[in-house]
Order: sequence, then C-alpha cells, then structure tokens
Amino acid sequence: MNIRDEVREFLASAWTPGMDSATFLQAAVDTGWLAPTWSADWYGRGLSAEDAEIVGEEFRRVGAPGRADRDHLHARVIYELGSDQLKSTYLRDLLTHTVSGCLLYSEPGAGSDLASVRTSVVREGDQWRVNGQKVWTSGARTAAYGLLAARSNRDVPKHRGMTFFVIPMKQEGIEVRPLVQITGDAHFNEVFFTDAWVDDANRLGEVDDGWRVLMTALGYERLVMGARGVGSRASDPTYVGTGDDLLALAERHGRLEDPVIADQIADIYAERTAARLNAARYAAEGKGQDAAAMSLGKLMMSRILHGTAGLRRDIVGAEALYDERADPPSDGEVANFFTLDAYFTSIGGGTDQVQRNIISERMLGLPKDKDASKDIPFRDVRS
Ligand SMILES: Cc1cc2nc3c(=O)[nH]c(=O)nc-3n(C[C@H](O)[C@H](O)[C@H](O)COP(=O)(O)OP(=O)(O)OC[C@H]3O[C@@H](n4cnc5c(N)ncnc54)[C@H](O)[C@@H]3O)c2cc1C
Repeated sequence: MNIRDEVREFLASAWTPGMDSATFLQAAVDTGWLAPTWSADWYGRGLSAEDAEIVGEEFRRVGAPGRADRDHLHARVIYELGSDQLKSTYLRDLLTHTVSGCLLYSEPGAGSDLASVRTSVVREGDQWRVNGQKVWTSGARTAAYGLLAARSNRDVPKHRGMTFFVIPMKQEGIEVRPLVQITGDAHFNEVFFTDAWVDDANRLGEVDDGWRVLMTALGYERLVMGARGVGSRASDPTYVGTGDDLLALAERHGRLEDPVIADQIADIYAERTAARLNAARYAAEGKGQDAAAMSLGKLMMSRILHGTAGLRRDIVGAEALYDERADPPSDGEVANFFTLDAYFTSIGGGTDQVQRNIISERMLGLPKDKDASKDIPFRDVRS
C-alpha cells in the first residue's frame, strides 16, 4: 500500500470532523502520523520530506490537525535540540496538547536585539538560579514550561554569553502578569523571575552558546508563522481571512462587480500563490532551514495578512469599525479583528524591518547593520 492510501485508511478509521481533538491526537501520536518525519522512537514514522508532504495533504483534505513535526514549534525545538530526558518528559504531552509551552525571549530592552537579554542565570551545583524579567510572553499563564534565553556570562560579547533552557513555569520564583492586547485579548504577559530555578539537565546546547540554539529555534518559529499566510483551508479557523472567503464576502456585500475589489482579491491570491511556490522551491532546493528563506516566508505572511485585512475593510466598509463581540461575529467584526490582529504578524517572531535586514544581508549581500555593542564585553554595554 502506498503512503497516501495508508494515511487515508488511518484517517478514515480515526478522524470524524468535529470530533474531540484529544482522542484523535492520541491516535495520531501512537501511529506516528502526527509527526511523520520523526523517528519511530519519538512518535514518528521516519518518512522523507516528500512522503510527509503527502501525509500533510491528506490531513488538510479532511480538516484534521496534523504535521506537528513541522508546525508545533515547542515540540519541534525539543525534538531537534533536546536531550532524550527532555524529550521523554515533554514530547508526548506537547503533541497531544495536554501541556503547552511559552517563549521566554523578549525583555523590555531586548526584542529585535535578542542578544541583549539581561535576565541572568548563575550556576549553583546542578541547578541554575534565574533572576530578571521577560515581556510579551504569549501563553505564559497556562504554560507548563518556557524556553528561556538568559545571560550566563557578562565578561564576553553579547552573542557569546547566553545559555538556553527549558524551565518549568509552575514554581515559586516565577510571577506572571497579563497584558491586554489591542484586540482586547490577553495572550501576552510579563514574567518576573526572583530566584527561580532550572536544572542543568534542562539546558539546550552548551553553556554560553545559547545564541546558536536561539537562532535555530527562531528559524523554526518563522517557518511556522510563514505558513499562516499561505494556508488555503477555509474550513480551518486558523486560516479564515487569508483569502479563501474573500470572494464570498465580496458577493455578500455586493462588491464582486467592483473592478478595484476584484483586482485586490486577485492580488491576494497571486501573493499567496507566490509565497507557497517560493516555500516549495526552497524546500526542493534543500533550503527549507535557510534563515533568509524563513524570514522571507514570515515577511510575506505578514504582508499578506495585513493586505487581506485591509481588503476585508474595503469590502465591508464602515461596518469594519464594529467590535461588538457578537456570536457568531458579523463580517464587520471579523474585518475589525483581523485588522487589529495583523499587527501581531508584523511584530511577533521578529519585526518586518528585521526580516528585511536579514533578507538584504543574507540573500542580497548588502552590508550588515552596524552594532557598536557587538564586540565589547556585555558588562560594558549601556542599557
Ligand atoms: C503578538 C505577539 C506575540 C509575542 N509573543 C512573544 C513571546 O511569546 N515570547 C517572546 O519572547 N516575545 C514575544 N513577542 C515579542 C516580539 O518578539 C518582539 O516584540 C519583537 O521581537 C520586537 O521587539 P521589541 O518589541 O522590543 O521592539 P524593538 O526591538 O524595540 O523595535 C522597535 C522598532 O524598531 C525597529 N528596529 C529595531 N531594530 C532594528 C534594526 N536593526 N533595523 C531596522 N529596524 C529595527 C523594529 O522593527 C520596530 O519597528 C511577541 C510580540 C507580539 C506582537
């Protein structure tokens, strides 16, 4: 039996639209279909990238949640960079959505320039003592653990004195305070560490070499985020607003015959297609993990989501000012939400400007940004 038939057989037996996702995820993890490229020891099937694409297509076709090996950022970081002990502690629960994680990167003075983090870790025996503050931490209130980028050495330049950990969040020295976003949701948080602890066994990578680990993790994040702009699953709520329902929306509002609107819809489709083909081209050239390629996908996603939100506003008109929180939401409210939410895409995971810097330096060969603090010991960098 070929892969497509095998995965179809699995989906036919395990998936019913609208079913409880926990039951499906358990079955998908147990059979290895959820993370098809991973090894059989760690919930995968060891499939090639090409065969895994087929698995993804079949999952998307029926609307089942899949491809955690590519799309589940936290599981992917721990699978690719973590020790066997960390994998056995977290992977299964992450894949089945029994637990979630958060990203403890940004600080009040270190967002785009993450090499400037000041949250400190000091080794004491087999543990590290953590003090400092993070900000904009999505999901910190519910997270079981966080991926922590911290300063372990202030005597060397900033890129060489960081260490990366998986830190348990539910402990006395960690306080989480919610921040409300422009959409009215409160996914963000401030996180304060006051003599919190993390085991040395929870370290990812070498001491003081956290920058390299962080770059790998950030690359995966951009890859995951980039995929949001090109999705074509009108049935998947994650992708609503990325284009598929624009024609129906224009028709509902009597704007389909408007040549300007029709033109803009065509533009969005063209951009999405270009983004998808670009991603496929890089994957085929073996550059799926290339930092500049990931930044390009992420930047395109942000532009597409801003463009789509703007078009929704043009179609529905003044109704897009509504924020009535009705259930189900009106077209106006959906346009309003996506307009506000689009700002997340051009800031979170690295701003558009920073992605442009990466693309211009690494793809176009333009000169690197000057950074006066790059080569001096971190303790001499002004805050
Ligand atoms: C929805 C959302 C979720 C987030 N979730 C998390 C999370 O879970 N965990 C986490 O750690 N962080 C998270 N963040 C934080 C996010 O990663 C940072 O906000 C982002 O990296 C920008 O950093 P900053 O806010 O410090 O802005 P700054 O770095 O202060 O930048 C301000 C402006 O200056 C520009 N700029 C800065 N440096 C350069 C440069 N070299 N060249 C050109 N322009 C430049 C930026 O593009 C930006 O426009 C999230 C942010 C958002 C919006």
